[in-house]
Amino acid sequence: MILPLVYYPDARLRAKGAPVKAIDDTLRAFARDMLETMEQHEGVGLAAQQVGKALQFAVIDITGIDDEARPSTMTVKGQAVNPEDHMPLFLINPVVTGTKAKERGSEGCLSIPGLRTDVGRSKRVTVKTVTLDGEPLEFEATGLLAVAIQHETDHLHGKLFIDLLTPAERAAVKDELDAIVEKYGPKE
Ligand SMILES: [Zn+2]
Repeated sequence: MILPLVYYPDARLRAKGAPVKAIDDTLRAFARDMLETMEQHEGVGLAAQQVGKALQFAVIDITGIDDEARPSTMTVKGQAVNPEDHMPLFLINPVVTGTKAKERGSEGCLSIPGLRTDVGRSKRVTVKTVTLDGEPLEFEATGLLAVAIQHETDHLHGKLFIDLLTPAERAAVKDELDAIVEKYGPKE
């Protein structure tokens, strides 16, 4: 089932997600709907807040995305693995720590359609999460996958990528953002 998306500046995007309490059939059904919704909109990631649920739950799929500047890598228990073998990747109550070293790259968001702008993100992240089978999963990621993980984890805490812009950068995209609010925002 394709779920309706929540668009900026909807307050539901600012809600901090409650922890997922049970990994059960209800959650797995929601996971399928999230995945279907993300694919429908050709997104790389989708957080529960973007379909109006304040939950620590997100999905990512970087399969087939050739980002030469930011190749995705994934390391599980010290072993390099093919990230595509772990897609779609569901983040359940993720705990993410990132390196201080940052790199800038272009980002967009299904909840802010059309806007793309550069933001700085940690080059490498360490992620602790749980799979949809309830198994603990710990890994490291770099490249676009690391960017997507940081972007989605921010959503789970009510944060958007435009929050990372400096006032000058924010001013530079103001007209674009205003036009998006006009198009997708609340109607009278
Ligand atoms: Zn987003």
